[in-house]
Amino acid sequence: MTRSEELFARAQRVIPGGVNSPVRAFKAVGGTPLFIARAEGARVWDADGKAYIDYVGSWGPMILGHAFGPIVEAVREAALRGTSYGAPCAAEVELAERVVALVPSIEKVRFVSSGTEATMSALRLARGFTSRSKILKFEGCYHGHSDGLLVKAGSGALTFGQPSSSGVPAEIAALTTVLDYNDPAGLEKTFAEIGNEIAAVIVEPVAGNMNLILPKREFLDAMRNLCTKHGAVLILDEVMSGFRVGLQGAHGHYGIKPDLVTLGKVMGGGLPAAAFGGRRDIMQCLAPLGAVYQAGTLSGNPVAVAAGLATLKLVQAPGFYERLTRTAKQMTEGLAASAAKHDIPFSAQSIGSMFGLYFSGKAPTSYAEVMASDKAAFNRFFHAMLDEGVYLAPSAFEAGFVSAAHTDADIAQTIAAADKIFAAW
Ligand SMILES: *Cc1c(COP(=O)(O)O)cnc(C)c1O
Repeated sequence: MTRSEELFARAQRVIPGGVNSPVRAFKAVGGTPLFIARAEGARVWDADGKAYIDYVGSWGPMILGHAFGPIVEAVREAALRGTSYGAPCAAEVELAERVVALVPSIEKVRFVSSGTEATMSALRLARGFTSRSKILKFEGCYHGHSDGLLVKAGSGALTFGQPSSSGVPAEIAALTTVLDYNDPAGLEKTFAEIGNEIAAVIVEPVAGNMNLILPKREFLDAMRNLCTKHGAVLILDEVMSGFRVGLQGAHGHYGIKPDLVTLGKVMGGGLPAAAFGGRRDIMQCLAPLGAVYQAGTLSGNPVAVAAGLATLKLVQAPGFYERLTRTAKQMTEGLAASAAKHDIPFSAQSIGSMFGLYFSGKAPTSYAEVMASDKAAFNRFFHAMLDEGVYLAPSAFEAGFVSAAHTDADIAQTIAAADKIFAAW
């Protein structure tokens, strides 16, 4: 029995499923999850001491690599001054000023502790601002686990959403309409029918929770135009893509102006910090200025804020995102070339430091196309790569990430591992 197997057995006795977030359990790919003992740079080490090149990066935050010196130092220094005050501190102001300066569509920002809180709070704010209740989301996009966002599409374009989790009341799910990603016609139709009841459209401007799906220009433009025309709030959920796709996130990359933006992951530098922000007139509706209530004991926590601030300073270095973009391209192009050489239906693409690998002949543009990819092939590939010392996300429906710590040698080692697996496929 490995240490990970031992720990997993113990964990299952006291933690439901042995994990504190479901996808960590390896259910999609089978087998025992790796228990991580430590992480440094581009690598994680499991409890048995085996090293892996890591493309999960804690599901997005670790853009500088693990245990990066300046971040560890910022956290240590902050902790020495006290780990939580429940009162405002200077670092929060500095981080807020930096976020406002970096993200053009954010005029005011509020900090929370998780992406789930950010999206949940942004939705309440949008509802308070518009005095409307309905929201639109897209199948395959994930926005955290609050009730109104754990909803899947019903059959037919205009049926109300069905809960996708037990415990979500049907009455709450009914306020969420779920449409197809990258389908401007579906948006047009829904807005024509219930446009004056829609408080907000929430979307991942680059979708990273159904593998990686890039947005079509017409889709982004339709969202912006329809929200403006019908008085709905456009919320771009950049918890994953923010400071990942580039310094100004996906909306900077595509030049689309949201009303509200949610941030998390990279913004917290590997500690629990997230944010929502946007138009001043909307943000002023929040308590204590306005009537929309939102709060948090650990919001703007000084240690988390220090990690976030140190991260945002470092990603501003000239050429930072250009280099990451090159690293991700090298990786996806290398894997695709290897698969092509061995006649394996496979494709790959990247944007900034996010990448997608698909066991299908071409990169998907919709949820339906992603679902049609070969899951069994991915699972086989995942375990074979793990054996070779490469840690990919344990599901065919997750995006991957490179960090500034991934070297050319790491990428070459990864491609060589895949080439060996594809040669024996
Ligand atoms: C991860 C994620 C969330 C949820 O963030 P948590 O910090 O896990 O609560 C929300 N939206 C998107 C797009 C995400 O990728």
